[in-house]
Amino acid sequence: MSNSMGNMIGTINRAVKRTDEVCPIHGTSLVYIQGVKKVKPFCMRCTIEQRDAQDKRMHEEYKVSRFRGYLKGQSLVDRADTFGYTFATFKSNTGTSEHYAKQAARQVAGTYLKQPDKKFNCLFYGNAGAGKTHLAMSILNAVNDNAEPMQRCLFLSVNKLIREMKNWFGDKTQVWSPKHVAELVHKADLVVLDDLGAESANSQATSFVQDTIFDIYESNQRIITTTNLSMDDLYKTYHSRLVSRMQEGGAGHVIDFSKIRDKRRGL
Ligand SMILES: [Zn+2]
Repeated sequence: MSNSMGNMIGTINRAVKRTDEVCPIHGTSLVYIQGVKKVKPFCMRCTIEQRDAQDKRMHEEYKVSRFRGYLKGQSLVDRADTFGYTFATFKSNTGTSEHYAKQAARQVAGTYLKQPDKKFNCLFYGNAGAGKTHLAMSILNAVNDNAEPMQRCLFLSVNKLIREMKNWFGDKTQVWSPKHVAELVHKADLVVLDDLGAESANSQATSFVQDTIFDIYESNQRIITTTNLSMDDLYKTYHSRLVSRMQEGGAGHVIDFSKIRDKRRGL
């Protein structure tokens, strides 16, 4: 300890004076600082405990924002209201195919939630408007809100991701470099790749798209992919090793939405 620091502490110690009042919690004398008239007598132990509690609270809040805040802070969505999709807002009647899809998605959410180290991918495929994005985000929200220990969740609209990455190649001051994407996906505990195929409308995916998607599957083994393409079209659009990557993890994780009518028409 430097001399000046020692002198300063010595001065403070000499300035701290006991009073006759006693802390009802600790039974120790309250003190005041000589020369500082405006401060009421206080308990040293209470003061230290309050400061420690505040430190702990700030540390907790920081941890929560790093984990639970990951979803809204790092994701790429087409529309902000996508974040509001939950199982509670997914309406389905018992016995219908959408009810079956919801049940299957709930199972998937439960497994990701309870087994943070289990590595498997999911594929939701079938026609547009069947609720794939809604259920994929519902899984993320369920895991984001309930996982203990907390898990970092990430939602990436593939179309938007490819656009952002192309922007980066044109202007390297932009955020979405291949390195940024790889780190973001690697750090996440659960990822949704939404609407795969939209970026390649009716043609075989470019090698840039294929490489980008492949890198994402390399960086994380807990990915839910949604696509409006049929299985046949998936194989026509992407390399077969990519399509098999999407399905890695076994039965129950590939859900066919093609029998579900368009929910958005509200019929
Ligand atoms: Zn006290």
